[in-house]
Amino acid sequence: MTVQTPITLDARKLNDALARFPTARAMWIGGREARGDGDTIERRSPAHGVVVTRVPRGRAEDARAAIASARAAFDNGPWPSETASNRARVLLKVADLIDRDRETLAILDTLESGKPIAQARAEIEGAADIWRYAASLARELSGESYANLGADRLGFVIREPIGVVSIITPWNFPLLIVSQKLPFALAAGCTCVVKPSEMTSASTLHLGALLAEAGLPDGVCNIVTGYGTEVGALMTSDPDVDMISFTGSTGVGRAAMAAGAATLKKVSMELGGKNPQIIFPDADMDAALDAATFGAYFNAGECCNAGSRLLLHAKIADEFLASLADRARTVKVGDPLDPETRVGAIISADHLGKIESHLKAAREGGAEVRIGGARLESKGLFMAPTIVDHVGAAMAIAREEVFGPVVVALTFETMEEAIALANSTSYGLSASVWSRDVDTAVGVGRGVRAGTIWVNTFMDGTPELPFGGYRQSGVGRELGRHAVKDYTEEKTFLVHTGPRTSWWLPRGA
Ligand code: NDP
Repeated sequence: MTVQTPITLDARKLNDALARFPTARAMWIGGREARGDGDTIERRSPAHGVVVTRVPRGRAEDARAAIASARAAFDNGPWPSETASNRARVLLKVADLIDRDRETLAILDTLESGKPIAQARAEIEGAADIWRYAASLARELSGESYANLGADRLGFVIREPIGVVSIITPWNFPLLIVSQKLPFALAAGCTCVVKPSEMTSASTLHLGALLAEAGLPDGVCNIVTGYGTEVGALMTSDPDVDMISFTGSTGVGRAAMAAGAATLKKVSMELGGKNPQIIFPDADMDAALDAATFGAYFNAGECCNAGSRLLLHAKIADEFLASLADRARTVKVGDPLDPETRVGAIISADHLGKIESHLKAAREGGAEVRIGGARLESKGLFMAPTIVDHVGAAMAIAREEVFGPVVVALTFETMEEAIALANSTSYGLSASVWSRDVDTAVGVGRGVRAGTIWVNTFMDGTPELPFGGYRQSGVGRELGRHAVKDYTEEKTFLVHTGPRTSWWLPRGA
């Protein structure tokens, strides 16, 4: 059993952080602040237990007004027919404003989600970079032409913005995830309705103010706060919405797709994962250990990409797990406002309860909690980095997302066995392979059905590389050079020149 030290929180840091922004925020509908019917959702910092923000509890009628505003902005313009250079100028300005307000945005995400401030700062920097990348793609968007169809026929395919896009995001990377969607939709010329998680809405609402300051026309981006079952349900079913771009759990993603199916909306889904880190005996063990620790505990494991399943070659399994446990014990869990903290608070008491239920079921099924497995003493919601051993591949803890600082370990002996184990869940988001042998690394990478394969690294990414899942981890890809195209429709033109052969008169008549 590990000895856990109580978490200490710095009251002065908290007060300084709270002084940086107003507690109450409004929604954005039609270019104006909107407060709904006056009902609000209060968010407490999961680390400190104090109220940090208050946002309107949007209702279905607010979602309806936001969709109508986005529809009008799309149908009447000017955004969809604006030049790419003007659209790019706005996106670049937004990126500069994100940089300007970086500290406030980072503090908002930290206080609402419990994530460490150093990590939040990096996420905000990453978000600004994505806005700049989307601006570059706006000007590259083009179609195809065919001059090889005969002397009297010319074909071309143009790309037009798809229309009104509903963007629905989760709580684990608030500003980063909306930035993986919104700038690309805007670059394409779409108009949008955005719904952040009700637990982490503040940075997205702050972004709304930055969009207005950057000169985005009224109604092009509307932000509605509130609950998924009320606001989100309308955003996925309203006939005036053309596309749903969703990140969240597989279950809710499935419901969102079903809601959109009635009007055949295009969907882009970034869902869950149970991502294997596959480690062979010839790997650089120090690097693999560091990545395994990072993969398991980054963002307190509340990450679709978490490396929550260690697949260890039997020859190294015992030694690897012992070293991992030593490292995990030294990971700094604590005050999210402390720049040295690596693991912050768990998002909510409910979620912490779910993590504990997973561990309880695993113990009852015969698994052994090697380190951690318990809450840390604090008035906030903290959980110790946890390793679960003696796990069978069929156990729920080896197949389902725990979404907490919990990693399970399984062993294999051959490459084929490693691939089969990696593919033994319904997910397919990402995987890493650790080996110095190119045949092993590439061979296993090709065998694993996942959207991203890391070789000798983990959870690295850049806007140039597409991201998304196989199987029940998602539909479609975000980022990458096709990211703007995803928010377009193709329109085919076939132009005939000169006399046309008649359909009913005999040829030559
Ligand atoms: P949820 O799926 O619970 O919620 C995601 C969003 O959907 C929230 O804004 C939520 O609103 C909304 N929502 C809930 N019900 C509906 C509905 N019926 N119709 C439309 N929208 C709805 O996920 P969490 O916020 O709990 O985030 C954690 C999950 O997200 C994890 O399972 C994780 O794997 C996944 N995830 C996947 C990522 C990926 O890229 N693959 C990235 C990050 C997270 P409300 O907050 O009110 O419930």
